Amino acid sequence: MGITRHSRIICAFNIQRPVKTRSMTEVRTRIAPSPTGDPHVGTAYIALFNRCFAHSQGGKFILRIEDTDQQRSTGKSEQDILESLRWLGLDWDEGPGREGDCGPYRQSDRTHIYRQHIEALLEAGHAFHCFCTSERLDELRKQQMVDKQQLGYDGHCLGLTQEEVSNKLASGIPHVIRMKIPEHGECEFEDLLRGTVSIAWSQVDMQVLIKSDGLPTYHFANVVDDHLMGISHVIRGEEWINSVPKHVQLYRSFGWREPVFCHMPLLRNPDKSKLSKRKNPTSINYYRDMGYLPEAVVNYLGMMGWSMPSGEEKFSLAEMESSFDISRVSLGGPIFDVEKLSWLNGRYLRENLSDGEFAARFLQWATAGGRLERVVPLLKERVERFTDVVGLGSLFIDGVIQLQAENFKHKQLNDETMVKILQYTLWRLEALQSWDRDAIESCFQELASQLELKIRDFLFPLFIVISGKAVSTSVIESVAILGLDISRARIRHGIEVLGGVSNKAAKRLESEFQKLG
Ligand code: GLU
Repeated sequence: MGITRHSRIICAFNIQRPVKTRSMTEVRTRIAPSPTGDPHVGTAYIALFNRCFAHSQGGKFILRIEDTDQQRSTGKSEQDILESLRWLGLDWDEGPGREGDCGPYRQSDRTHIYRQHIEALLEAGHAFHCFCTSERLDELRKQQMVDKQQLGYDGHCLGLTQEEVSNKLASGIPHVIRMKIPEHGECEFEDLLRGTVSIAWSQVDMQVLIKSDGLPTYHFANVVDDHLMGISHVIRGEEWINSVPKHVQLYRSFGWREPVFCHMPLLRNPDKSKLSKRKNPTSINYYRDMGYLPEAVVNYLGMMGWSMPSGEEKFSLAEMESSFDISRVSLGGPIFDVEKLSWLNGRYLRENLSDGEFAARFLQWATAGGRLERVVPLLKERVERFTDVVGLGSLFIDGVIQLQAENFKHKQLNDETMVKILQYTLWRLEALQSWDRDAIESCFQELASQLELKIRDFLFPLFIVISGKAVSTSVIESVAILGLDISRARIRHGIEVLGGVSNKAAKRLESEFQKLG
C-alpha cells in the first residue's frame, strides 16, 4: 500500500465531506454502546473511565450509539442506556441529545458515510468483494477444525478479476465486502496500560466490513467514526484487544493517524469469572431499583482497578476527575462485589445525607416512574384502613423477599415442578418485547397451558417469590410494576430456596424449554 494511494483517499474524503481538522492535542474519548440489551454496569464502568480521562485532560467525552446490528438493536435498549448513564451523572459532552459538530451520533444515521468510505477502500485495493455462500464458509470452517488450522476466511474471492466481480455484482449475487490483511509478519501497537502488544497477522481474519445487507460491521463503522469524530484515545474493555490489528490495518489503509489504545481490565464476579448476569445482577436498572444511590454506584465503579492517590475509598465523581491518572489503573481483574457496594452505599446514606435529604431521596426513589399511582388502584381494592397499606404494598418497595422452603408447601406441586415454572417464566420474561400487564398475562397463560397446569397452580410459586405470600395483589400487575430486574432477582432467590439448579439440570431444563417453542 503506497503513500500516493493514502493521499488519494484522504483527498477523496476531503472533497466529499470535509472533516474538521482538530488540534492534535485535543483529548476526545468516547463510549460506544450497542443497544442490544440491559444497560450493563460494564458500560457505565468504561464510560466513567473515559469521562474521567477526558475531563482530567480538559477534553471531551462523547457518546455514540453503535446500532449496526439491526436484528438485536432496539430503541428501548438505547433509551435505557442513555437514561442509566444520565442517572449515574455520567452525561456526555457530545452525543444523542447533545449534538456537536461530529454528528449524527447514532450509526444507523450514518450509513451514507460508511458507503463513501468503503468505496474509497475498494478503489485503493484494501478491500474486496466476497461472494462465498454460507454453505461454503461452513464447509471451510469444518475442514479447518478437522485440520486443526487457524479458523478464518481463506481468501477464495481475492483472486477474482475485476470483470468477474463486475459480472457477479451486475447479476445481483449476494456478497459482503472484506478487508485485506497482510500475509506475513506481526501487527505491533501500543496499549497505554500494557505497552507494546504484538499479534501475528496470520491470526487475523479477513474481516467482513460490509455485510450482505449493505450495513457495516462493528469494526468498520467503529474505526470510521472514531476517526471522523476525532477520538484521540480509545479506552474500552480488554475483550477488544484482539480486534486492534484489524483496526490498525484500517487506519493504515486510510492513511489516518491511529488513536491511543487503552484496554481496561474486565469486571469480574467474586469467583473471578467474567461478570455475567448468571451470577450477579449486571443491569444498572437493578441497582437503581434496589435503592442504591447513583453517587455510590459511580464511586464503587471508580474503585474497580483504580484508587485515589490518598487511598481514600469514598470519593465523588468530581474528586475522581480532578485526581484522575490513568496509569494508576491496575490490570488485575477487578471484582464487582455487590456486598462491598452495599457497604459503600450504606456509608453514603449515613454520611452524605441529612435526615431531611434521606427522607426526600427515599420518597423520590419509592415513587419514581409513577410507581405510587400504579400501586394505589391495586391496594384500594383490598384495604379497609391506611394501616393496611404497608402490609399489602411493601412488596413494591422491597428488594429480594427472603423465603424458606416452607413457603413453597403446596398440595399439588412438587419442588421440581416449581423450579421449572420459575425458571421457564424467567426465560420467557427475559425475552418479552414489551413490558406491560397484557404481555405478562399472555406469557403466564401460554406457559401454564404448555405445562398443562391450571393457571392457579402455575401462579402459586410466582406469588410466593414476588410477594412472599400465597395471596396478594395480582402477581401479573406486581411483576409489571416491579420490572424485570427486581422480578428476576426474586425468582432466582426462589429457585435457590427450592434447591437451585445444577449445571446438568439447567441443560436439561433448557432443552425441554426449547421444545415448548
Ligand atoms: N459497540 C462496542 C460495544 O458494544 C464498542 C466497543 C468499542 O469501544 O470499541 O462494546
